[in-house]
Formats: sequence, structure tokens, C-alpha cells
Amino acid sequence: MLHDAHNHLQDEALALHLERIAAVWPELAGAGGEMVVNGTHPDDWPRVAALAAAHGFVRPAYGLHPWDVGAPRPADWRERLVARLDADPRASVGEIGLDRWILDSAAPDDPRLAGVRRASMGEQTEAFVAQFALAAARNRPVTVHCLRAFGELLPLLRDIPAPARGFLLHAYGGSAELVPELVELGAYFSFNPAFLDRSKGARQEAFRAIPEERLLCETDAPAMPPPPAWRTHKLPPGPDGVAPNHPGNIEAAYAGLAALRGVGETALAERIAENFIRFFGPAR
Ligand SMILES: [Zn+2]
Repeated sequence: MLHDAHNHLQDEALALHLERIAAVWPELAGAGGEMVVNGTHPDDWPRVAALAAAHGFVRPAYGLHPWDVGAPRPADWRERLVARLDADPRASVGEIGLDRWILDSAAPDDPRLAGVRRASMGEQTEAFVAQFALAAARNRPVTVHCLRAFGELLPLLRDIPAPARGFLLHAYGGSAELVPELVELGAYFSFNPAFLDRSKGARQEAFRAIPEERLLCETDAPAMPPPPAWRTHKLPPGPDGVAPNHPGNIEAAYAGLAALRGVGETALAERIAENFIRFFGPAR
């Protein structure tokens, strides 16, 4: 049984391919294999809810992503978030987080950020803290994006209470040295198969250092495609010429992580299934 702990099935880049993905998912993930579909802004939350209603393998997550903090949003967005959590006991908070890459490193014309107003770290922090605290108050799972911002995230995590069940650092890109403290603070870490690229040695080292009971796997589809040799599922390019990542590439996350840690794939999948249910809660 395979679980994708983090993707964006509601994204427009996957909309055309939804039937195709839904048709292959049950067979590749196995009975009970689920995916956590993360909203990024109140505008896409209805699409996430509709997917969860239509497909038993979808668990909904609702959040304001750091790339969307700079976009206009309804004044009552927090109340809407609470209502989404109240409407579905399986719903989690995500994707939320901090992103210094968009401020310091991303090219001004990066196509992934077209039309994005890059919110300051102050604005991002305010939105992150509000959502993380909401998850903690309700002990809901919460999924955190942190890109080149561990210097900002760590003091917050030390300072504000986390949900008793812990929290997920998706596509963990911090160092191996940070892992013990993050484990102590309650972190789970999801492995993205884009980290199988040869240039990602530091990421691979970090994923060797994570205790087995805190590991999860993810695709972040339609973003973060695995290196070509690991792509078992392909989708045609969209109008922008970019081929979206297929959630079926979750297979690469499991196979790659097992190889990286020198463990059997079946044993790893069993352990990750336990972790998934412990963190995200019982299946429907
Ligand atoms: Zn994501």
C-alpha cells in the first residue's frame, strides 16, 4: 500500500488528466492507498473538497501557501479555514509555510512565480503562525513548506506549541544536523523523488538520518518531477511546455527512499503506512 503524503491534485495542470490519474491510482497504490491533496488559497479549497467527496483515496488539506500570501484573499479566510476543518474530520491544515527562496534566490522572471506578489517574511510569518496555531489548537495534522527558511522556522517551532500528533515538513530540504531537534519538536519528513537527482546529495544524507517512524513519501505533483530515469508515470506537457508530475510517481519515492536507506521496499512501505495513519488519522 502506497500513500502520497503531499500533492496538489486540484491544480489546473492536472485537471485535464484527472480521469487518467484516478483510473490508475487504486491499482498502483493498492487498496487503502491514499493521497493528501493540499489547497493553497481559499480559491482552490472548493476544488479540494470536491475531489475528496468524489474519490475515497483523497484526503483534503486546506491552507494558505507562502506563495499565495501575497495574493488578495477574502477577509474571512481564517473562518473559512475553520469551517473546512469542521466539515471533514479527516481534513488537515496545509500547505502553509515560509519561503525565503522566492525573496532571495528566485529569478525575477521565474515562470513558476508569474503573477505572484512575493510576500515579505513578516507577512508569511503572520499567515504561517495563525494556521499552525489553529492546527495545534485542534490537534489536526499540518503540512509545512520550508524553502531556505529554517533560520526563521526553527525559532517559531521552538516557541509556539505544535499539534500533539506532530507536524509534517514536506519535501524536507534542511540539513541532516537539524533532524534530531526537529524530531524532538514533533516533525515528520516526507521524501520527494526529485531528491534522487545526483545533485541532491545533502537531501539524501538528511533522509538517511531520519528515524524510520517519522518518514513519509510524497510527489508534490504537479510540481517536482523525479529525475527521468525514475519517472514511471508521464503526462504530456501543458500549454507552458512543462510536463506536470504524475502522482503515480509516488512509486519512485518509495523505491528511491528504500534504495537510499538500504532497506527492503515492502518493509519500508509497511512502516510508512503505519506512520501515515498515526499522523493523518484513521482511514475513512
Ligand atoms: Zn506542495
